[in-house]
Amino acid sequence: MQKQGSEKGEIAGEKSLFPCFLAKDVLKADKPLFSLLLNIGRRESKIGCGVFGAINFKKQPVFPYVYWGLRAQNHRGHQSHGFLTYNEGQFYVHKKLDLVPKLRASGMQEWFGRLPGCIGLGNVRYTTSGKCDDRSLMQGTQPVTASINGLKLALSFNGNIVNILQLRKEMKKNFPNFVYSCDSDLVCQKLLLELEQSKDLTSAVGACMQSLDGAFSVAGITGNGDFFAFKDPHGIKPLCAGHSPDGATYAFSSETVSLDMNGFVRDFELEPGELVKVSKDGVEREQIVKNPRKAFCAFEYAYFARPDSRFDGRYVYEIREEFGRNIVREYPEIAKDADVILSVPETGDDSAMGVHEESGLRWERASRRHRYVTERAFILLNKERYSTIDRKINILDSKVDGKRLLVTEDSIVRGDTTKITIEKLRRAGAKKVYMFVTFPRIIGPCFYGIDMATYGQLIGSRHNAEEIAKIIGADAVCYQSIEGLVRATGQSHNQLCLACITGKYPTPLAQKMADEMKEKFFNGYEEKGRIYETCETAPQT
Ligand code: SF4
Repeated sequence: MQKQGSEKGEIAGEKSLFPCFLAKDVLKADKPLFSLLLNIGRRESKIGCGVFGAINFKKQPVFPYVYWGLRAQNHRGHQSHGFLTYNEGQFYVHKKLDLVPKLRASGMQEWFGRLPGCIGLGNVRYTTSGKCDDRSLMQGTQPVTASINGLKLALSFNGNIVNILQLRKEMKKNFPNFVYSCDSDLVCQKLLLELEQSKDLTSAVGACMQSLDGAFSVAGITGNGDFFAFKDPHGIKPLCAGHSPDGATYAFSSETVSLDMNGFVRDFELEPGELVKVSKDGVEREQIVKNPRKAFCAFEYAYFARPDSRFDGRYVYEIREEFGRNIVREYPEIAKDADVILSVPETGDDSAMGVHEESGLRWERASRRHRYVTERAFILLNKERYSTIDRKINILDSKVDGKRLLVTEDSIVRGDTTKITIEKLRRAGAKKVYMFVTFPRIIGPCFYGIDMATYGQLIGSRHNAEEIAKIIGADAVCYQSIEGLVRATGQSHNQLCLACITGKYPTPLAQKMADEMKEKFFNGYEEKGRIYETCETAPQT
């Protein structure tokens, strides 16, 4: 097999019930009567990927749909982006590092020329497998393509493969020249290999579902122009389908927001273990794995997804508002002891609204965010991280000075950016800082597409809420309960993945690796990297 990064076009330089800590004297009644709730909504952990794909049955260029679909999902991955179109048997690819760019109207024709065709894929990525230097990032940029004996395949992938070492060995065995760069490549090549053997897409996807342990929501195009999408048997990552009002265009997307941005109608969320094929003859849905166990990522509700996306017909912002109401019900004494609502804009605004509604506390805008500083704090070196946060978010001292702050936060992963923010609030004169964290304490790594893949990087794996409060300089850290979170989503425990907050993983190999590494880690072992890329538990082929 020969992997093809591109055929035509440009490849450029290629987050226990009530686990709250009350610090000493936290409830002393020497405080002003008004309240300050601060919501810092910044992103600390690393996301995975966003998938978009579309087909136009009137033979019109599909690139604009893919472009706007992808741009609406840039929050899901910002290290690289890529577009791929299919025209008369050829794949045309554009891949680059960084955010999806703005396009000038004057340059549109050039883009249409570069990416012709009526079927297309797009992907934004934050790496959760492979190396992170620029060259490796470029190599791992999606969509990925592969070919063998005249068969071709292109995929856009969101998720993470757990039995990655096993697959690498399998590919090495079959193809001596195989060079591993990331899991999306492996999935593409594995599917192509199965396709070559069975000559049937349904059988090939079924074989992949049987042999891959992990999360995978995939949209793809074959060399014959077949357009399809499928989800792993647990449906860990989102993937929905929709169509344009005139029925001429059909699309798959990680989030509904990308359908909205294109003016499309949402049709359905793919079921776990489902394959969907789309052609001019219609939409064909096949349940490849019978009676799968759904395990949809709970972190999507708290952190990843855009608030204006919908899961099971409910907007994410509605669920986050309920998180906010829940946390006030779970920590009423803390809420009573705070002063004013204050919101640093971004992901926590919706839960802050819920806190405001339940507590009746005043909600102030005590910070302003620089609209054009887009660097993410977590990708920077420590020294740079401080200065970038200083440049990105400006605290209005007059609204903080002498106040007891109630800060809503979507999650605490490492805790370092939260610590920096609290330091800024203290410097601005905050009297108390109480953290309301909507996602329960993260105690274990994620194996399914979020780059928090070691115990060592998780402050919650080694410290309880009381200890975390001391480390980050908060007066209290109050996590929403797992029960509260589950109830707010409208799902049941056995419909969600809660692995990183319960230690119970939905797939067997992830559970085995997590248990083994946990024991070693708490006996002094130093982790060498992402568990699924370094753990010897991986089965041999
Ligand atoms: S382990 Fe956590 S972040 Fe990963 S898929 Fe499960 S709920 Fe989502």
